[in-house]
Amino acid sequence: MKFNTKAIHAGQAPEKTSGAVMPPVFQTSTFAQEAPGKHQGYDYARGGNPTRTALEKLIAGLEEADECACFSSGVGAMDAILKMFRPGDHVIAINDLYGGSYRLFKQVFEPFGIQFSFVDMTDLDEIRKAITDSTKLIWIETPTNPLLRIVDIEAIATLAREHDILTAVDNTFASPYLQQPLRLGVDMVMHSTTKYLGGHSDVIGGAVATSDPELIEKLRFQVKSSGAVPGPMDCYLTLRGIKTLAVRMERAVQNTAIIADYLVGHDKVGQVNYPGLESHPQHELAERQMSAPGAMISFSLKEDTQESAHKFMSRTRYFTLAESLGGVESLISHPSSMTHGAIPEEVRVKAGLKNSLIRLSVGIEDADDLVADLEQAF
Ligand SMILES: *Cc1c(COP(=O)(O)O)cnc(C)c1O
Repeated sequence: MKFNTKAIHAGQAPEKTSGAVMPPVFQTSTFAQEAPGKHQGYDYARGGNPTRTALEKLIAGLEEADECACFSSGVGAMDAILKMFRPGDHVIAINDLYGGSYRLFKQVFEPFGIQFSFVDMTDLDEIRKAITDSTKLIWIETPTNPLLRIVDIEAIATLAREHDILTAVDNTFASPYLQQPLRLGVDMVMHSTTKYLGGHSDVIGGAVATSDPELIEKLRFQVKSSGAVPGPMDCYLTLRGIKTLAVRMERAVQNTAIIADYLVGHDKVGQVNYPGLESHPQHELAERQMSAPGAMISFSLKEDTQESAHKFMSRTRYFTLAESLGGVESLISHPSSMTHGAIPEEVRVKAGLKNSLIRLSVGIEDADDLVADLEQAF
């Protein structure tokens, strides 16, 4: 089955008792047992629910994974991965990281004794230098947020395997439509399904997909024991969103290419970060690793101040000022005062995140209207 067909059919057989084409919302907390311990695969809905199972099978299908575990949020999914490790274990994470991931690592897990190094993963030597005897996990995000840098997933997965280190990719920004990290050799793929998979800015969720039976067992143990589980209605909404993932992504990518060209030619714009541009430092890698360069773009202003960025953003009409991304509607945000506010300024500036940097999540509106909106805001 190819991707577009899988998005509609993977794990989505009509429901057995009624023939319902969409999986019903199984709004129940428990399931009747024929005899103690004898049931139809579900006992108590923290552990599992058929609507959730349908979503898990669909995401596993799209990521070419054997299995997937769904969570109540993206950070809930990350939390379950990090809980596989123990005090003294060391994690190498990319330095250009989602702000909430940085907070989870530094403020939740570091006090419990897990150690983190944040490195520039565009340089494989930096990762090599950071590896210690205690390193257990390499945490990759690509394209990165908000600088849209691309790191070589396959090269990192190969390096990690030589040292017996697990790898996980936060694939939220690309979505499985653009990039399938398990095929490149990593152990786990994580999603904030809140973004492109859900696609309609109406539900929070997370997922981890893997083909390693030991890892899925550990994840399911966390689902049951820590309980960051998605409700059946949330699973249903996410399922419904995923069915149009391919057509949404196609349009959003087309729009973003047009906006990238427009921004590059604008005299008030400083740097434009978009993997689809030939000027992008990892343009060739992006072409190799992704089927298209995505629908996230960021740029700085020539007048590099927070104030000039704030002024610009207050004027856009179709680009709504909001955190998040990956929905059908275009959004605009200012990472250094919004999503990345949790990262200390010196860390932020060192990672190359300028004060005026503006991030766009390009939606599926008409490109002409989006460009006109940016033009009037300038
Ligand atoms: C949003 C996001 C998360 C966190 O997901 P939630 O669903 O908001 O908990 C993690 N990583 C990336 C790249 C994100 O964009």
